[in-house]
Amino acid sequence: MKSENIPFNFPYMTGKELYYIAEAHFNGRLAGDGPFTKRCHSWLEERTACIKALLTHSCTAALEISALLLDIEAGDEVIMPSYTFVSTANAFALRGAVPVFVDIRPDTLNIDETKIEAAITSRTKAIVPVHYAGVACEMDTIMDIAKRHDLWVVEDAAQGVMSTYKGQALGSIGHLGAYSFHETKNIISGEGGALLINDSPFVERAEIIREKGTNRGQFFRGQVDKYTWVDIGSSYLPSEIIAAFLWAQMEEAQLITNRRLAIWQSYHDALHGLEAAGKLRRPIIPAECQHNAHMYYVLLDSFATRTRVIQALNQQCINSVFHYVPLHLSPAGKQYARVHGELTHTEDLADRLLRLPLWVGMNSVDRVVNALTQLL
Ligand SMILES: *Cc1c(COP(=O)(O)O)cnc(C)c1O
Repeated sequence: MKSENIPFNFPYMTGKELYYIAEAHFNGRLAGDGPFTKRCHSWLEERTACIKALLTHSCTAALEISALLLDIEAGDEVIMPSYTFVSTANAFALRGAVPVFVDIRPDTLNIDETKIEAAITSRTKAIVPVHYAGVACEMDTIMDIAKRHDLWVVEDAAQGVMSTYKGQALGSIGHLGAYSFHETKNIISGEGGALLINDSPFVERAEIIREKGTNRGQFFRGQVDKYTWVDIGSSYLPSEIIAAFLWAQMEEAQLITNRRLAIWQSYHDALHGLEAAGKLRRPIIPAECQHNAHMYYVLLDSFATRTRVIQALNQQCINSVFHYVPLHLSPAGKQYARVHGELTHTEDLADRLLRLPLWVGMNSVDRVVNALTQLL
């Protein structure tokens, strides 16, 4: 008998997306910053306690705005993990800065905060912690280092919507934070993102950069009498159709998170035995972190085991995946970035990490766990 295919990801839709898109259509208001965008901004501001939230067309765009806001220039250095998605580094490399990679912690796979200080030079401008799997980096330590060395902190919270660190929403702790609403994340709009601003002097300029370098926002609020080119910028705002879709998701964000957490916990409970038998390692969540069940991963004993397991699961129609190719080993990483110290954990863990299917509506955790148990 052929078993039913278990996809790795399956975008969850609440059922209200098309209704809100129809409303945007009916309103005849399709460009950005209309009523749905405003609702999404308020939701983010209330939910995260940031000073200002701005929807963007991606997390990548929010990181690019951050680099512009911080006046990142050629030769500046920005400290970040190598174990991340390309956009974390690319946004700063685009401005001519050099990403400086430090190793990750073996428990959370987040940047190792104890390795940051030694990587700081006179050219260092910012630290970019990435909250891997929606589990927070050690932000108190990172903010303290930044304060003592007069550096900016931009949180890549692409995976961290609805997660907290000591009760604070991820993305609201550093000077700036970036969220993603890409279809592979928890709360989605196909492509989409948001910039969270936690330092008031950035608000006005962020609005200008996001609106092609114009003071259009101030003009519509009646604060200036003409609308013109005042700074560098680009078009970073999503249309109302995207915001309408996203609004449907935000309304159900808690429900989506709870359902993901339940699946995450089923994996975690069911894989306890394999961990006790030394066959794999389960994710570790520090006590001060409330996560959002963005992903369930396991660490296997070797690259060879992972390759074998992915293939074997695939034969049973279970789609599992791995990521990332550490950026310092990528062609562009070699060209644009540099490494500080040994990236031992980065290289080791990237070879052994396996991501299991996790999506709202999935009811096949047992089948995945049984397959894994047999294979290991
Ligand atoms: C998904 C992701 C991004 C990019 O998000 P987009 O919205 O697709 O631009 C950046 N950083 C991390 C860590 C991510 O997981």
